[in-house]
Amino acid sequence: MDGDFILKNASIVDGSGASSYSGHVHVSGNKIEAIYAEDSELSDQKAEIVDIAGQTVMPGLIDAHCHISFDEPVSNDELFFHRREGLASIIAGTNALKVLQSGVTSFFDADSLYNVGVDLRDAIESGIIPGPRMAVGGNALLTSAGGTAGRLIPDEGKRGYGAVVTNRDEIVLEIRRQIKMGVDWIKIHVTGMVPRQDSEGELQAWSFEELKLACDTAHELGIPVVGHCRGAASLKDAVLAGMDMILHGTYMDEEGLELMVEKNVPLVPTFTFQANLIDYADQMDASKDYKEIFEKEIQDNVGMFRKAFDAGVPFLCGSESGFSVTPYGDWHYRELEVFVDKLDMTPLEAITCATKNAAVAMRKENDLGLISPGYKADLLVIDGDPTKDVTVLGKKELIKYVIQDGKQIDLTPAQERIKDPAGWRISSYSGKILKK
Ligand SMILES: [Zn+2]
Repeated sequence: MDGDFILKNASIVDGSGASSYSGHVHVSGNKIEAIYAEDSELSDQKAEIVDIAGQTVMPGLIDAHCHISFDEPVSNDELFFHRREGLASIIAGTNALKVLQSGVTSFFDADSLYNVGVDLRDAIESGIIPGPRMAVGGNALLTSAGGTAGRLIPDEGKRGYGAVVTNRDEIVLEIRRQIKMGVDWIKIHVTGMVPRQDSEGELQAWSFEELKLACDTAHELGIPVVGHCRGAASLKDAVLAGMDMILHGTYMDEEGLELMVEKNVPLVPTFTFQANLIDYADQMDASKDYKEIFEKEIQDNVGMFRKAFDAGVPFLCGSESGFSVTPYGDWHYRELEVFVDKLDMTPLEAITCATKNAAVAMRKENDLGLISPGYKADLLVIDGDPTKDVTVLGKKELIKYVIQDGKQIDLTPAQERIKDPAGWRISSYSGKILKK
């Protein structure tokens, strides 16, 4: 399949939230040419006909929160101190293929080690290596109060995916620098973890004035801003400062919800990391502390999130793929499952969160995420019905075709890694301290 073909007898899930219907999807070049009704005569068509009777065609999944450059670290120590730029780039290229083959034709790389994200995006767009379409943030902007890596973040300068800004001039300089490098988004860690905090969520690490300056600086150059927020006050300040998308958004209060609705700011809850850690903690030897924190975070927030969804806040599926808890290519579908199980969405609603809605994170809402004439031909053919059970999207044997830009993607698994490069992972002298 390449260039001009018709997926015949498809059950079409178009991504808009409409119920599935039977028909034929015509792809020409890299776009969806037309959708023909079930009873249309196709015999005078010159296009290749591919009969997919009994199978579903839907837009390729869009994962609105990934970290392609991280390579599945088991801890922040590993992520911040064991990654090298050149290797991170090469390995990210192989991981990108895994993501694509799992049915994710686009993803948002929220922030990146070094400048890996921008470079990988450009390599994929240029056809140098295969991978999903990417929209990228650069280094996450942090203040010296840190972010989710606490004291591992330096007081100034850069480390890992973080760029610490210490004053107004540095905020402006770093944002302009990243935009010059070619980022699609500016990412700000509005909140972070500090050791002695008594409020729920994380501590707000930026003042409102700093957030406003950051948003204004990015917006003047036409680039949107996304905020990592866990905490009621931080979310309100972020939205009022002009942020264009919120990651996590937990501990949102009523006022925050109203602001999200009023300004139509999309929310990427990103529960997959937590859900995986909770469900597989024993198998992964995960920290009990994290397990408890995450169980509480989900429980504390599902009520308010359901309310936000009902009030019209656009929800986007993002998986946080890139950590040991969320390896590439395996868990991108899981946020849909969590939305169905925890937020009581219908499978169709969850699919819209991973297609049409998630196109906003790609800044391509008129191009991606729908099966509609003129949209890019990024499609999945599934031997199953995701409108009944979204978990079929996580079963590789049921993914029959991944089509990107009108071209069929080779689903032959890439070569397995023989071992991790030297120094890539944490190496301990021992698992425990010797007791005498
Ligand atoms: Zn993230």
